[in-house]
This record gives sequence, structure tokens and C-alpha cells, in this order.
Amino acid sequence: MKQEPELEFVVVGAGFAGLGMAIALLREGLRDFVVLEKASALGGTWRDNTYPGCACDVPSHLYSYSFEQNPKWSRLFAPQQEIWDYMERCADKYGVRGHLRFNSEVVRCEWDERRSFWRVHTKSGEAYTARYLVFGTGPLSQPSYPAIKGMDEFRGRAFHSQRWDHSFDVSDKTVALIGTGASAIQIVPQIQPKVKKLHLFQRTPPWIMPKPDRAVSPAMQRVFEKYPVTQRALRNTLWTLMDLRGFGFSVAPSILRWTERQCIAHIERQVGDPELQKRLVPDYRAGCKRILIADDYYPAVSKPNVELVTDGITELREHSVVTNDGRERQVDAVIYGTGFRVTDFLSPMTVLGRGGRDLNDAWRNGIEGYMGMLVSGYPNFFMLLGPNSGLGHSSMIFMIESQVHYALEVIKGLTARGAKAFDVKPREQAAFNARVQERLSKTVWATGCRSWYLDANGRNTTVWPGITAEYWLRTRRPTFQHLDLDPEPRLTTFSKGHTATA
Ligand code: NAP
Repeated sequence: MKQEPELEFVVVGAGFAGLGMAIALLREGLRDFVVLEKASALGGTWRDNTYPGCACDVPSHLYSYSFEQNPKWSRLFAPQQEIWDYMERCADKYGVRGHLRFNSEVVRCEWDERRSFWRVHTKSGEAYTARYLVFGTGPLSQPSYPAIKGMDEFRGRAFHSQRWDHSFDVSDKTVALIGTGASAIQIVPQIQPKVKKLHLFQRTPPWIMPKPDRAVSPAMQRVFEKYPVTQRALRNTLWTLMDLRGFGFSVAPSILRWTERQCIAHIERQVGDPELQKRLVPDYRAGCKRILIADDYYPAVSKPNVELVTDGITELREHSVVTNDGRERQVDAVIYGTGFRVTDFLSPMTVLGRGGRDLNDAWRNGIEGYMGMLVSGYPNFFMLLGPNSGLGHSSMIFMIESQVHYALEVIKGLTARGAKAFDVKPREQAAFNARVQERLSKTVWATGCRSWYLDANGRNTTVWPGITAEYWLRTRRPTFQHLDLDPEPRLTTFSKGHTATA
């Protein structure tokens, strides 16, 4: 049996996170890695979500890699295809292609304690060994379906927003759309003009702000291209404004009352019917669930061929949806805009760490990590966008870049110390989480709504409790005292540039 791994890194997933990691490795001159991707193309979320109207609700000049500004964004909020194309171009420009292994779904990863490396197995039977394992699989990749009686009996078309059935033409059909979250509110304005009837099933109304979207004129694109500093200034302004809102989320939720007033005025401007207005106004603090942005949703919901249904669904029958008032609505299709299994994002993968402990088992009572990336008992393992590193207010790509930087700093520090492996100390992970949970208890996400940020026990395991600027600062240099190194370094091998910092 070989003592050394074949590779330095296995990266799992080729979405923004995995691609960002791959580019960072190449920019550091580290070429000994593969990126395993279960699909036949890169892109993650932006490959999978092809529903009509799919676009980013974070401005593209911020929702992009800091090192690869795109002066050609067609709009402030770019559509899905344009974001996917951007990712493809990044893969080409930075030479990632040769490292991508498509149709390679990872099913099992095992830490080899004796040799200090990971074994990674794919569904098709390939196996890789690597010193470091980096997960970029993201929390929003496994669709969540509601548990509704009779779902299997339904004989019309039924699909999830993330698995849009493009062979189904909605024209002149009667469609049930379940959910009114970020995806659904983009879908409604697109299908409303085509369908005969849309029954929109709303369990909880979202807070929706006006969308400051606009086309970026060719003249402005030329300015961005010729003077990149102007685009950087726009990016920094967007980042600062979003972090200011994040400050409200995390420190002073009551200032979000101002946002609520803006949202209510938006409803009053766009919806004529006072009865409908009332049913569209949320009864929880804005920001507790993700604040959405749209200018075309309320006008579409107000159209005569749309029915906003607020009675709960009790059953699906062969060709109908039944609500708890006993009403049965005949439909041709059911579209699930019901979100993702956010706290269940490893499944169906098995990750076995020290002592063969299954991470799904370690996380039985809730997911938990350190700095949103490391997990005690799982050496040399980085989970990009792991527990408590999500955001409700800004660009996830900013978080990914902070995490990639941190991962590389850990690896450089390990090399400088002559260590082959690291593991975060259990007590440091526990202390980190105690602090995170204590801070989260004072934020807007703890003001009483039911959101996907909370797990089955009501614990917020998804969101970073502060602003992105704090996360950036805290990921500049790892605190090596929080890590167990193997072998423990001899002091003489410490490199000046990578000494432990508090
Ligand atoms: P979501 O925001 O979680 O919305 C799911 C919707 O389905 C909610 O309205 C929810 O109601 C409803 N729902 C869930 N289970 C239900 C059930 N059993 N019966 C009735 N209704 C049910 O999901 P999403 O719209 O797919 O978005 C998920 C996340 O993806 C977003 O929060 C965002 O982070 C990301 N996203 C981003 C963009 C973007 O532009 N950047 C676009 C789309 C999605 P309740 O509110 O009552 O739970």
C-alpha cells in the first residue's frame, strides 16, 4: 500500500466554490489536484437552475470573483445564462479545464489515519487519494419537496423549480405553484402571461423590496473596460451598502422597520385590491427570512388569471390539489418552488473521519463546524460554505473567496511547520459555536419566524452572525493554536511568515 497520496487535493463540486478553489490553487502554482463534479458541466446552482426568470438577486458587479471583474455584465442583476457563461470563461482563462472530472459523483470519502490522506470514491468506481479534501458542494443543491398526502398519485406534470421540465409548455395550462420564496417570485411573472390559470400557494408571504435593476449601457461597459477602477469603485460601494444592511440584521434588527415600511409601500403601489394587499403583507420582522427584490411579482399576482391561495394544501389527487377548506382545484401541473434541504447537504455522500466516524452521524443533532469550514474529527478537510457561513444580505462569492484564502493559509502554515495533517481542536470548535449561537440569538433571524436558516431543533446552523467584513478579517490568518497538527511541529521549522496568530 502506497504511503503517499496520488494527489495533493481533491476538490468536490465545480460550482462557484469548487471553481474558486481550483483557480486559487493554480494561481499559487499548485497543480496536483482534480475537481470531481457529478454533472457533465460546471456551474453548480447556475447550471442547475434554469427556470424562467432565473437571475441573481445580488448585483453582478459584486456577485463575481474579485480577481475577475466582468465589464460586460448586461444588467445590474445578470440572468442565469450570463452568470453560467462567466463561470465557463473563468474556467478557460485560468486553465481549470484539465483538472475537471465530469460525471464523477463522489459517494464516499475516508480519512486514512495511518497515512494521513483521504480516499475518495465515485459512483462509477473510480478512487483517488489526496492529502487534502475540499468540499464545494454548497448548501442549495438538494431540492426539498413538501410531504403532501397523495403526491405520488398526481398524474399531471410535477417538477421542482431547480429541475425545470423544459419539455412542458405552460401555455394555456392550469398550473399550481407551491411556495413564494426567492425562486417562485422570479417564476410567477414569467409564466403568468402564458398560463390559463395560475394557483399560487403561499404559506408565508415574503418581504419584497423594489428591484433597482437596469441594463448596463454599452457606454458604461466601455468605461468599466477601459478604467477598471470605476468598476472596482462600484463593487466596493455595493459591498459597503450591503454590509450596512447586514449590520442591521445582526446587531439592530429593529432598524429593519424602515425596510418594512418600504416593502408595504411597494405593495400598496403595485396591488390595487386591498384584500389582496393584506394577504401579501408578512407578519414577521423583515430579514428574518431572506428579503427578496422584484418589480414584476406583485403586478403578476394581481392579474385575473392568478389566484393567491393561502389555505394550506392537504392532499394531491390524480389531477387536482385539495386545500384545507375542502376546495379541490383541477390542475395540469404542480411546480414545487419549495427550496432546498439546506441542513442535509452532505447526503447521500458518506464522509468518514477519524475512527471511521460518519459525518452524517456526527451531525445527527445538527450541523456544526469551525469558521464555517473545518470540522473537528475530519482532518485536512475544508468545507466551503459550510455551517454558519451563509449570508442573508450579501454576495456568497465574497465568503467563498475569504474561505479559499483561509484554506490556503492553513495549508501554507502546515507546510511551513512540517506537518502533514491538521484537525481543529474539539474544545475550540465548541467555543466557536457557543459564541456564534450566542450572537445569533440577538439577530433578526431569531425574531420568531420559521426559515430555512433554522434546523429542525430551531438552531441557526446556516448563517454567519456578523457582517462580511468581519468574516474577511477573521479569515486572513488562521489561529494555529486552535488546530492539532500531526506531527506536532518542531519550533525550528516555523516560518516567519506563518507563525500562529491569535
Ligand atoms: P425558499 O426561499 O426556501 O422558498 C421556499 C418556499 O416554499 C417558501 O415560500 C416556503 O414557505 C414554501 N414551502 C416550503 N415547504 C412548503 C410546504 N410544505 N407547503 C407549502 N409551502 C412550502 O426556496 P427558493 O425560492 O428555492 O430559494 C432558496 C434560496 O435559494 C434562497 O433563499 C436564496 O438564498 C437562493 N436563491 C437565490 C436566488 C438569487 O437570485 N440569488 C434566486 C433563487 C434562490 P415558508 O416561507 O412558509 O417556509
